[in-house]
Amino acid sequence: MNNAIITGSCQCGQVSYEISGEPMFSAHCCCSDCKKASGADHITAAFFKSDQVAIKGNVSDYATTGDSGNTNTRQFCANCGSRMFSLNSGREGVIGVQVGTMNNPKGIAPRAVVYAKGKNDWDAFSDALPQFDKMPPPPASK
Ligand SMILES: [Zn+2]
Ligand SMILES: [Zn+2]
Repeated sequence: MNNAIITGSCQCGQVSYEISGEPMFSAHCCCSDCKKASGADHITAAFFKSDQVAIKGNVSDYATTGDSGNTNTRQFCANCGSRMFSLNSGREGVIGVQVGTMNNPKGIAPRAVVYAKGKNDWDAFSDALPQFDKMPPPPASK
């Protein structure tokens, strides 16, 4: 992907974004918070340095405390409710972007399934993806 720009938006278009560069990490998450927030059996998120992501429009926040004790803030469009971004107090300067909101997520290949113990038997993932019961340690930065 190199210098490709990833663009995305919420369903109504009030919130949009542009991302330059590649994600640090991307994964499917099967935790109970992601299920409730998305209404799906898992979400797919890609993580970037905050300065890679330029956001236009206003998001609303909803914060919860994760099993690590960190605050996990989910951001969504206040108008249409599309879940867009996530921030974690234990990962300063990193933003998670919901892959389903991207217009061109082709190069975003998830590298793991996290909180896999929350996965239902009928929610199938590739055997090539490592599965973790929790959030794995962050990948070494370049
Ligand atoms: Zn919207
Ligand atoms: Zn989750």
